[in-house]
This record gives sequence, C-alpha cells and structure tokens, in this order.
Amino acid sequence: MKMYHSTMPNAIDSILRDGLKTGMLGISKRAETGGGYTMAGNWADEHYGTRPVYLAVKQGLYSQAARQLGLELEVEIDPRTLVADLPSLVDTGAYIEEDGMWWEDDAPPSMKRFIDADGFVLFDELLVPGSAAAYAAMRTTGTAASPVDIPPERITRLANEGALRKYVRSTLAEVSNEYGWSAGSRKEFMLDDEGMVKSDKDNTERFLKALGLMEIKTPKLTLQPDAQIFCDMDGVIANFVAGVIPVLNDILDGNDPLHFEPTKSWRKRWRRVQRDMEPDWRAATANDINIKQIRNLMFATVGEAPGPIFANLPPYNDGVSKLWPLLNSTGHTVNILTATVKATPDATSTSRDGKLEWIAAHLSPPPSETITVQADRDGSSAEKKAHYAMRGGVPNLLIDDHAKNVAAWRAAGGYAIHHKPGKSKLTIKQLERYGL
Ligand SMILES: [Mg+2]
Repeated sequence: MKMYHSTMPNAIDSILRDGLKTGMLGISKRAETGGGYTMAGNWADEHYGTRPVYLAVKQGLYSQAARQLGLELEVEIDPRTLVADLPSLVDTGAYIEEDGMWWEDDAPPSMKRFIDADGFVLFDELLVPGSAAAYAAMRTTGTAASPVDIPPERITRLANEGALRKYVRSTLAEVSNEYGWSAGSRKEFMLDDEGMVKSDKDNTERFLKALGLMEIKTPKLTLQPDAQIFCDMDGVIANFVAGVIPVLNDILDGNDPLHFEPTKSWRKRWRRVQRDMEPDWRAATANDINIKQIRNLMFATVGEAPGPIFANLPPYNDGVSKLWPLLNSTGHTVNILTATVKATPDATSTSRDGKLEWIAAHLSPPPSETITVQADRDGSSAEKKAHYAMRGGVPNLLIDDHAKNVAAWRAAGGYAIHHKPGKSKLTIKQLERYGL
C-alpha cells in the first residue's frame, strides 16, 4: 500500500539516495500541535529498539507545509511489516506504563478489542509487525511505524513545483507582514514597500535557496562548446563611476582637466548646474552622478573628450585579475561587448579609441574581438547588445552589470549573468553552474 512520510529540506536528498533509515533521530512536525518542530516520541525508541520510520496513511497528515513544500514522500510498503505508531497512539489520551499504555475510559473504538478490563494494552502486542493490534492502532492514528529500513526504490518524492512556488510566495508574504522584516531581509527577498513579496522568478529562487530547496529548481545549464562569451566593460572590468567622479569634481572646482573647447550645449548644461546646485556641491557616489543636471553635464563632458576619459578609467581589480583570466581559461571565445557614448564633432578621439587603449593596457590575454555598440537615444544599449545573444542557433553568454541588458539578452535566447560591480566572486560562482 501507499503511505506517506514528511521530512526536512536538508534530509530529502539523502533519503532519495539511501532510503528511509531507522535509527535516525529526526525531527518531525506534528500536525496536531499546530506548528513548531518538536522532538517526537523519544521515549518510544526504547520499546522499538531504534527510532522507527513513521508513516502516515494519508497525505499531509504530519504536515500540510511539508506536503506543499514538496517535502512529503510517497512510500510503497507492505503493511505486514508495520507496527503501531506508539507516540501517536498516546496522543489519543493514553497513559504510558513500563510495558504498555492504558486509557481511563475513553479508549479509541478500534482499540477496544485489544484492551483488558483496565483499559490496558501491552507494547508487545502493538509491536508485532502486521498483527491485528498493529492494524487497529494504524486505523486509530492514521499512522504506523516501520521498524526496518525502506529502500530508495520504494520512495517517490511528491513535488509540484508550481504549487511549491505559489506556497513559497504566500508564506513569505505572510511571514514578512507578521514579523516586520529587517532592511537586510527585505533587500534580499525584494519585498515592496508594504512588505509584500515581489513574485518574480529570481526572488522565488532566492527564497528556495534560503529554505535549502534550491536543488529542486536549479536548472542544469550547459554552454555549447562553440558558444562565445561576451563581457561588458563598465561596471565589470572598468570602473566608470570611480573614473568620472574626480574629472567631474575637477570641473566643478573650475579647472579644465580635459583641455577641451566647450560646445554651446556643454556650456548650457554647465550653467544649469551652477544655477541648481550649491557652489560647494561635489559628487561622491554613483547616485550623485545620476542627479539629472549632473548627469547631463557628465555626459556632455564625456562627449567632449571620450577617448581620454575611457582610456583612464580605473580597472576593477577583481574583474581584471580574477574574472577575465577565468573567462579566458574556459576554451570559449571571449569578446568585449561595450556601449559607446557619442562624441561631439570636434572631439579628438572617440570612446571606442579610449576603450581600445584601456583594453591594451589592462587585459591579458586581449579579447578575441572588441565589439562596440552605439547606445540608443535613451542611453540604453540593451537591444543592440542582444543581437549577439545567439549565433547559428547557439546561445552565447553575456556578463553585464546592467539588468536591462541581461533581460534583453535572455529574451533573445542567450544566457546572461547579472554581474555585481566588484563582486566577481559571485559571477564566478554562477559560471560554475554553466560548467565553466
Ligand atoms: Mg556596464
């Protein structure tokens, strides 16, 4: 017959591999206590001579949560091998004695045949596999105990990934509302302002990982041998923010570090900054250069002298000395795929010139190819980059710090890793998922 066993996330792999083993001091979640993991039935181990494997006749009896989380296993078992689930039987209101248990005057109906005048039944009777008393106990509790191991070929995992994801999202929402999560956990799980979980795929995956359920969903990804790798520059190997801030502040100080003849449009943007910002305001962070007036002046400045600006960006040391060599050790062709900024007509060099100079100075080995794409009017290069996502039906791999580029690349059929600036370690971890 089919019976069911609930377990914990960290136990499921070994159970599916080695079977359900007796003698394991597991923790079980008892449905009737309404929650909380409790050590159940330690006292009974003495009578079994081991910790048996507890099984339920119906799904979800021990824990609805385990059922919904895919932590319930279906077990094909011969009932003649089973004995009574003593702890659950005691939960019906029995008192434990040294060699048996008794009910005052409210013994469960199925057990009446087996109790004496004092309401007493011997453990010895309940622990004979397949005995009438063991069957009666099973009818009473809806559960049974196997005093022998159950081999893996008799065990099936009951997992429904769709239901699991739905359950995870609703649980997470509930929990976050109830406990008012810290800023850290909010960030980690991308909760919105009301503490509700954003239900996108990446977010759900993070939660599954936190629960130790990552193995359910992690797809096996393999990069085909002739797939190419495309690596972004700014935010991955070159630090545009760190490079542009001192230049900008130097200009705000009234200096002329790049020696260019300002265009009309540059002067207009300069006046805006003078009008709207405090005279001693200086940029310090990535957010500062996103202030509209500052951003406009910055791009105008980059457009006046793109070559020297891009040639002189500081490298990300992790990107240049860890990530880049690793990409080149994979045997795949490694290209640079980077967006260019439009130069003003009389600029002496383009951003492509500057980037090529930077590559020659910092990258060893050099990239197979350096592909530059002109950003669209809205500043995005996502669509143009995505042209390289596939080649001859083969998905290529992109490493880029810009979420929009990553999304467009994946939408075009390629694989993409969303790189966090300065965090090559994380990217390298993900590369391992591709077998690199
Ligand atoms: Mg970038």
